[in-house]
This record gives sequence, structure tokens and C-alpha cells, in this order.
Amino acid sequence: MWDPDDQLSLLAHEMTHSVQWEQGPVSFAARYTGEWLWNGSDAYNVPKSMLGMTLDSSTVRAWNYTFDEIADYMAWQVAPSAGRVHLK
Ligand SMILES: [Zn+2]
Repeated sequence: MWDPDDQLSLLAHEMTHSVQWEQGPVSFAARYTGEWLWNGSDAYNVPKSMLGMTLDSSTVRAWNYTFDEIADYMAWQVAPSAGRVHLK
């Protein structure tokens, strides 16, 4: 059984991907796949340089971070005590 904070964190992560998806499924899939193949597990977690960044409809697709870093930043903001997201 997952901890409720971990469930909230994962839900926020996946909801962020739904906003990123709005740029178009092919574009999303191409970028996401490339980032995942290039970075592997390092595509996740939150770079310290993101702290203080405001997420909106444009920054949620910022090019200087991976989609998973952005989704984990949103998850970290929503549930900072969850154990699944870390600063890096
Ligand atoms: Zn993800």
C-alpha cells in the first residue's frame, strides 16, 4: 500500500504530463522518448536550479529541463514530504 503523500506526488507528476501532452501527442512522445533514452533515471527528480520557478502553460514545457524533471518539480511542490522525489 502506497503512502498517501506518495500517491498525491505521483498523481501530480502524471497530471503535469497531461498538460505537456497538449503540445501534441507526437511531439510529446518524441521529446519524452528522447529524454528518457538520453538521461535514463537521471531524467527524474528536481534540479536545485528549478527551485522558485513558476510553472505555467509555457514553463511546464521548458526546454532546459526534462519533462520528468518538470513533472517531479510539480509533484515536489504538491507533496514535499513524499519520499519518491528528491532534489539533485
Ligand atoms: Zn513522468
